[in-house]
Amino acid sequence: MSDKTFGFETLSVHAGAAPDPATGARALPIYQTTAYVFEDADHAAALFNLQTVGFIYSRLTNPTNAALESRLATLEGGRGCTVASSGHAAQVLALFPLMGPGAEIVASSRLYGGSLQQMKNTYPKFGWAAAIVDADEPENFKRAVTENTKAFFIESLANPGGVVSDIEAIARIAEASGVPLLVDNTLATPYLCKPIDYGATLIVHSTTKFLSGTGTSMGGAVVDSGKFDWSRGAKFPSLAGPEPAYHGLNFYETFGDMAYTFHSHAVGLRDLGPSQAPFNAWLTMLGIETLGLRMERHCANAAKVAQHLEKHPAVAWVNYAGLASNKYNKLAKKYLPKGAGSVFTFGVKGGYDVGVKVVDGVELFSHLANIGDAKSLIIHPASTTHRQLSDEQRVSAGAGPDVLRLSIGIETVDDIIADLDQALAKATA
Ligand SMILES: *Cc1c(COP(=O)(O)O)cnc(C)c1O
Repeated sequence: MSDKTFGFETLSVHAGAAPDPATGARALPIYQTTAYVFEDADHAAALFNLQTVGFIYSRLTNPTNAALESRLATLEGGRGCTVASSGHAAQVLALFPLMGPGAEIVASSRLYGGSLQQMKNTYPKFGWAAAIVDADEPENFKRAVTENTKAFFIESLANPGGVVSDIEAIARIAEASGVPLLVDNTLATPYLCKPIDYGATLIVHSTTKFLSGTGTSMGGAVVDSGKFDWSRGAKFPSLAGPEPAYHGLNFYETFGDMAYTFHSHAVGLRDLGPSQAPFNAWLTMLGIETLGLRMERHCANAAKVAQHLEKHPAVAWVNYAGLASNKYNKLAKKYLPKGAGSVFTFGVKGGYDVGVKVVDGVELFSHLANIGDAKSLIIHPASTTHRQLSDEQRVSAGAGPDVLRLSIGIETVDDIIADLDQALAKATA
């Protein structure tokens, strides 16, 4: 299939998954195999030398995973993709070719709590440092750049605060600083936002969320735009110098705009090992077939719930970028013209105690730590996902004591609203 001539919904169903040439099976087969038979010794040698593309061992590549990689690269408008066992694994994999001891990232303070946790406590064990800045002021990225900076990291639509990043402005500063811009596009999905169109270099996903779509499968992905010159400024020796981890191969010289993706498989997945299970890739492929339909309903339902809560007497504030009253509404109109997603926060009058009572009072909503399910989900971040952070970090990440996070599902919207109304009534009685 030539990709350029088809619409998003068509590509969501077809990209990366032609009928199986061996059997004619129309559905993508699950290649539940660890290894692949070599044609002969020369074929094996060519595969190991990366002189021919093919399959060796499923830690590195697998045909079911390759179909998902092809589909995600197409939907994001990228050149190549690597899937991983989770969103967090994808983030480590995404940074790995860029970083080394002493290297730094500049990241938004509005990132998902788990990502801030990685940067603050775990990356330092690799000798990687992160400067955390307020992304509302794109100039903050410029101010934080040092000669050791290797990447900028933002979320297009942030979890949980309904915060939209000015991708284009931050991409311009990344370009001027000679570093790639990584965008976590989990909450928006490529249906709502394509960060590469605005200058992003690398996209990371937790496919666990809207892409798989029904709360069944952990997974992550890194999509490379193929547009970054890795030889620029000699900042990225693993990609544009002799890579000791692959017998001195210069990936950029050898593979050009596929250098990053080849490195992610041949070195990243090979040595770190966070490969996605083919069954999860298969479920995610199935999920993506309905991505557009689901996102349309997710967004429409979320907009109605946000409007309802904004008028609710027990609610102090609503932070949904799709509301005209929201500080990020202008950015949402630019970057998310089809809808501002379905994950947002609101504050209850009465703070922490009322927040905890609401999550205990819901009946249709599930109280759990996930987003992007077809089912409506609720959580009180201060007592759960964000509890490891300091008070200051919590507030800065949009997860203060009165905050509830919703992930609005695709159920009948009146039922979603009725459930929140009864839970709020009980919690404030
Ligand atoms: C969930 C999430 C992650 C982490 O993904 P996992 O699949 O849970 O590892 C990263 N970023 C965002 C925005 C997320 O919502």
